[in-house]
Amino acid sequence: MSNLLKIDNIEKYYGSRSGLTKAINNISFEVSKGEFVAIMGSSGSGKTTLLNCISTIDRVTSGHIYMNGVDIYENIALSLSIQDKGYQEIDKLIKDTAKKLGITHILNKYPYQMSGGEKQRVASARAIITEPKLILADEPTGALDSKSSKMLLDSFNYLNDELKATILMVTHDAFTASYAKRVIFIKDGEIFNEIIRGEKTRKEFFDEIINVVTLLGGDLNDAL
Ligand code: ADP
Ligand code: MG
Repeated sequence: MSNLLKIDNIEKYYGSRSGLTKAINNISFEVSKGEFVAIMGSSGSGKTTLLNCISTIDRVTSGHIYMNGVDIYENIALSLSIQDKGYQEIDKLIKDTAKKLGITHILNKYPYQMSGGEKQRVASARAIITEPKLILADEPTGALDSKSSKMLLDSFNYLNDELKATILMVTHDAFTASYAKRVIFIKDGEIFNEIIRGEKTRKEFFDEIINVVTLLGGDLNDAL
């Protein structure tokens, strides 16, 4: 597998000299094309900051992030577009994706008419339809009930297994993380541990995640 994303020694500080928050403290890891990786950590551990730096919403204080070997601040490789597709193809893609995510009934609604969970699934549909090189998901099941969460995570597995999409998802939820093929744990802005699903069943992998969460301590345990 070729290397799609390389996080090289990044740090992110917020604030001034008087009140400095080290949100990310020396994180390095790589994601190969076709991988499905979860970043797990408790509230405030730096997950959203990390994702925002990768998506270029935010900027790292030091270090580098490479997409296909190119520094992302030189070449915004994550720009999303629906290129070379006709109206009918786009229409079919939207309807098929909406069906998969169970949101067909809201296709004609305005955002203000949607629930938080519906908005979440629309965001997922957008990620699926535009076929980005890398799908970034921040707490994708955060606003969903368990049935909708399973549907969404099944669609992530479908995207990853069948369409070879590369997915990087951050979550504080062990059940959600158990759908990934690799889980990287972060604590206080640093990598704490990493486990790989391999041939294990999702349930076995879930149990392994729970064991690491127990080791990690802190408020992640509250989610158990
Ligand atoms: P998580 O997504 O894991 O809950 P965040 O990345 O949101 O964690 O936050 C990591 C740390 O950085 C926290 O201590 C948070 O308070 C701080 N932080 C996040 N965003 C900002 C910001 N814009 N300004 C100042 N501090 C921030
Ligand atoms: Mg967050």
